Amino acid sequence: MALYKQVESVTNIPWYFLAAVDQYERNVRQSRRDLPKAEGITGIYFKPEEWVGLLNPKLDDENPETIQFFEGIGFDGDGDGKASVHSDEDVVHAFANFLLKYGTDQDNLKIGLWDYYQRDKAVGIIVGKAQLYKHFGRLNLEEHAFPVPIGTHYSYRDTWGSARGWGGRRMHEGTDIFADYGLPVRATSYGIIEMKGWNKFGGWRIGIRDINNNYHYFAHLSGFSKDLKLGQIVEPGMVIGGVGSSGYGPPGTSGKFPPHLHYGMYKDNGYTEWSYDPYPHLKLWERQERAK
Ligand SMILES: [Zn+2]
Repeated sequence: MALYKQVESVTNIPWYFLAAVDQYERNVRQSRRDLPKAEGITGIYFKPEEWVGLLNPKLDDENPETIQFFEGIGFDGDGDGKASVHSDEDVVHAFANFLLKYGTDQDNLKIGLWDYYQRDKAVGIIVGKAQLYKHFGRLNLEEHAFPVPIGTHYSYRDTWGSARGWGGRRMHEGTDIFADYGLPVRATSYGIIEMKGWNKFGGWRIGIRDINNNYHYFAHLSGFSKDLKLGQIVEPGMVIGGVGSSGYGPPGTSGKFPPHLHYGMYKDNGYTEWSYDPYPHLKLWERQERAK
């Protein structure tokens, strides 16, 4: 936080925006093997040729003047006379300088991000994270909740990967939590409502993007909480809808299977998004809530 505020004080780019870019890159690096692991606090990664400039023959150049000459992104942010990829302040400052060419208001920052990543989804995820950091005024947003209230009547097993019947051959990408119709369904993380509506498979469903590039998918709901809107910020434990049996047909279809919450987790790695098994996470969150 001190690092982001320091760079904000010099560049006027809001700390929560810098934190969002940094967190996005950190999550991408954690989920990819073709990028080196982060060594400092910051997760932002520049390729050596990006840092020193494409035509710079010296790939480990730390001289701010030659880097500037070769139009590298490298910058001496901490004022030690060197532009070093090993300095968190230099790295965050360099990224801030890149964005600064576009401006410091949200619309211009978004254009800057688009030019950098060339990917709408990356821009959307980063802007969402920035909203979360701004709203809560802190960086630690890691707390989780179990998707239905602990102590109520529900059951679930690890069914990830098993075959599905309806709508052709599909793999089961999630965990089914069986419970009574209408039991409250709750957000499992801090996040933003990224999707809300009907799908012929999932019925009434909600998608929430958390601070770690994860997408949490809640399907077959009986309905949505009143006033729940796309783009809304949620907290772990906040009621978003009810357990239902909607889906497997046109909008409004219900009752083709016993009521349950289908819960899925997906991760974005900067290129694509894939599904992974939520079961171990559900077990953990359930245990953590029971211990409270
Ligand atoms: Zn399911």
